[in-house]
Parts: sequence; C-alpha cells; structure tokens
Amino acid sequence: MERKNAWKGYDEEKLAQVDALAKDYMRFLDSSKTERECVDTIVNEIEAAGYRELSVLEKEGKKLSCGDKVYAVLMNKTIVLFQLGTRPMTEGMNILGAHIDSPRLDVKQNPLYEDSDFSLLDTHYYGGVKKYQWVALPLAIHGVVVKKDGTTVEINVGENEDDPVFFISDLLIHLAGEQMEKKASKVIEGEALDIIVGSKPLADEEKDAVKAGILKILSESYGIEEEDFLSAELEVVPAGKTREAGFDRSMILGYGQDDRVCAYTSLKAMLEIGQTDRTACCILVDKEEIGSVGATGMQSRFFENTVAELLDLCGEYSELNLRRCLAASNMLSSDVSAAFDPSYASAFEKKNSAFFGRGMVFNKFTGARGKSGSNDANAEYVAHIRSIMDEAGVAYQTAELGKVDVGGGGTIAYILALYGMNVIDCGVAVLSMHAPWEATSKADVYETKCGYVAFLEKACL
Ligand code: MN
Ligand code: MN
Repeated sequence: MERKNAWKGYDEEKLAQVDALAKDYMRFLDSSKTERECVDTIVNEIEAAGYRELSVLEKEGKKLSCGDKVYAVLMNKTIVLFQLGTRPMTEGMNILGAHIDSPRLDVKQNPLYEDSDFSLLDTHYYGGVKKYQWVALPLAIHGVVVKKDGTTVEINVGENEDDPVFFISDLLIHLAGEQMEKKASKVIEGEALDIIVGSKPLADEEKDAVKAGILKILSESYGIEEEDFLSAELEVVPAGKTREAGFDRSMILGYGQDDRVCAYTSLKAMLEIGQTDRTACCILVDKEEIGSVGATGMQSRFFENTVAELLDLCGEYSELNLRRCLAASNMLSSDVSAAFDPSYASAFEKKNSAFFGRGMVFNKFTGARGKSGSNDANAEYVAHIRSIMDEAGVAYQTAELGKVDVGGGGTIAYILALYGMNVIDCGVAVLSMHAPWEATSKADVYETKCGYVAFLEKACL
C-alpha cells in the first residue's frame, strides 16, 4: 500500500499555489518564534478577516448567530477561534487543534553573571532538546520583561541583519578528547547552556565591569534593571530567517515548525472556509512540549470555559448542552510527525512511516511501548476521515512515530478525547524534529491545509 508522491500530480497552477502558501508560511514562522508572537500574529490576521473577541462581544451584550466569527485569548499564549455553523452547537463542532510552543532555552529568573571577562545569561531548556545542537550557532532573544508597575517591555534581539546575536560556546576540537568520549546526553549538560551576551567592561567599574556594561545597555535600551529578570519570560531561539531548502526549493528549513506548521495551516483553513453546517473551531495552545500543563496548556479548563461562553452568547447555554456539544464534536489533533530519514533508517519501520511529499500524515495512534499515553482513534472515525480526504483529492499517508519500542511521543489528542469526542492525530512530517532548524516539504504543508479545509467543511460523524 504505497502512497503517491503529491508533487507528481501538480500542474503549473497547483505548483504556484503550493509555492505561494509556502512563502506565506515562511513569513508566519519568521514573525512568530514564541507562543506570544504567534498569538499576536494570528490576532492581527483574524481581526482583519472579521473575527471579534468574545469578551468584547459579551460586554456589548451581542447575541451570536450563524456565520459569526469569534476568538478568545488566554494570557497572550493560547488562542481559540470559532466560526459559527448553521446547525445548533449541540450537534457538535469540527475542531482543529495544534500547539504553538516550541523547544528552546528559557532565561532563568536570576540569570545574569560575569565570569572571566564574559557576561552570560543562565538558561533552563524547555521541551525535549539534544543539548549539543544548541552550541556554536547564532541565537536570538525574544520575550517580555514585565516591570513591577505592570508595564511590559517587549524584547526581540538577533533577527534583523544589523542586530547583534548571542551564542553558547563549545570546546575546541583540539582539547575535546575527553568530551568526545562522553555519550551524547552528557556532551553538553543543561547547566552548560549559558549564553554569552557581552565581553566589554565599563572603564570606571572595579568589580563585574562587563556585567555592569550589559546592565547599562539594558537600562538605556529597555528601561529595565537586573531585578526585572525576576518577572521576565525571555526565550532563546535560533537567530535568522526561515529558508527554502534544496536546489529545487521543495523544502522549508526553519525554527519551530513543531508545531507551528500545523498551527499555521489550521489558521489558513479557518480563514478559507465559507459557511459550514457545523461550527468550525481552531484551538492553538501553549505548553504541549512540557506535557500540556498549566493555565495555557491543553489540560486547562480554558477551552471548555470558552465553549460555555460561546453557547451562552448563542442563547443555548446549559451544562447539558455544553456536554453534548463537546461529546458530539470531531477533532483533528495536529502535530508534526517524524519523517522517514534515510540516514537513520533503522529507527523507522518503512511501511508505516511518513515520507516527505506524500501529503498530510494521519496517526491512528501515537504513544510509546504498547501505545502507552496514546489516543487511539476509532476505526469508524478513521474511515470517515479517509472518505473526506479521498473525495477532496487530498494527498495523505498514515504513519507511526518510528519503530515499535524505539521511542515514541504524545500530543494533545487524548485530552480532548476525554469529552468522548472523535479525535485523530494528524499533521505534517518533519525532518530533524526538535533540532534548531527543522525541515518540512512544501507539498505536505499545502496538502495538510487542504485536508483541514475538507475536514472543517465535511466532517459529520
Ligand atoms: Mn509537537
Ligand atoms: Mn514537539
């Protein structure tokens, strides 16, 4: 049961569409390197498309009806969009879900120090990273510093051509005999991931003169002092723009494609659909990489609360209606899939692997060691999805995350499944997942967007 490569079926017009979407996606990635930046970018885009904020509509006492487009944001890190369908909410929604947090290095709360005429920022890595991949490459700092008076200072350094960048040093190969004998998890240890931010001492300073110089710059540029790091969220990410990859420009190399590739394509699908029967919904959440925890993670009540508010504005709210709406919903829980990598073929089982260019990936289940931690989609639901994709002419493939017993991974799918709704894992295949620069296929990005549109318009189980 080999799946066809989507590129082979494209005519000139299709190729132009694939390329246009890829270009727009690359722009999205460059403007959205943190969950906060993602939410900002998305809000700007959907406001321009006629979406209105739920809390504002509540204050206005507006009643909602079919065709209305609304959204809600939590703590600037998680966002949910709805486009109301012609049928009552109690008959269920079609939901797209993805996450907008990505692996990175977070600056600690007391981070700044000086050592040997360098000034450094101490970090704590976020999500699953191969720590050795984060040294000796240009890094940027994105985030916010919130001062005691409540004012927020936005930081974004390292992306413009004339911005400075930051870096983590690595031991020169000439002296690395001992280091090279270590296993990969120990080559670079967590506490070694401190980023170098300066080396020029202040002339009139006796002690820690380099650090003093950095603090002076922070004060002059941003109006912040050392104690303000206590209430900061600064994320260290690879510096630089997303690039096309390959002589044929068929691929995209960029930071944070897990899972912004699914977030972006879900967003595009929401903006592309016309009036649907069922209410269309898209939830883009934070904290997936560390277990979907916290107020802004998928395990939070935010989603359920927002659906309750929406039902209320539709004049349909009751506890029972809320339960009915969620239980009757269908969901595509989207996250990136491991693309088959010929350089590491032994980690994969080829018949059940995702390949670049073969389209949107469906994972009936994820998990590890006997599917532990997985949402295992119901066969009836998988059949329904297959028929929708085939009818819409979407290229798709099915896969597992690597060979049985080699490893595994989880997604947000099992959390929504708790309501008793149909959920299946799907998404885009990624090469070098969780590395500073991850790769995707333009064809897969395009097919996945088309798959989401078909799902929002047609799913009705
Ligand atoms: Mn992911
Ligand atoms: Mn991930």
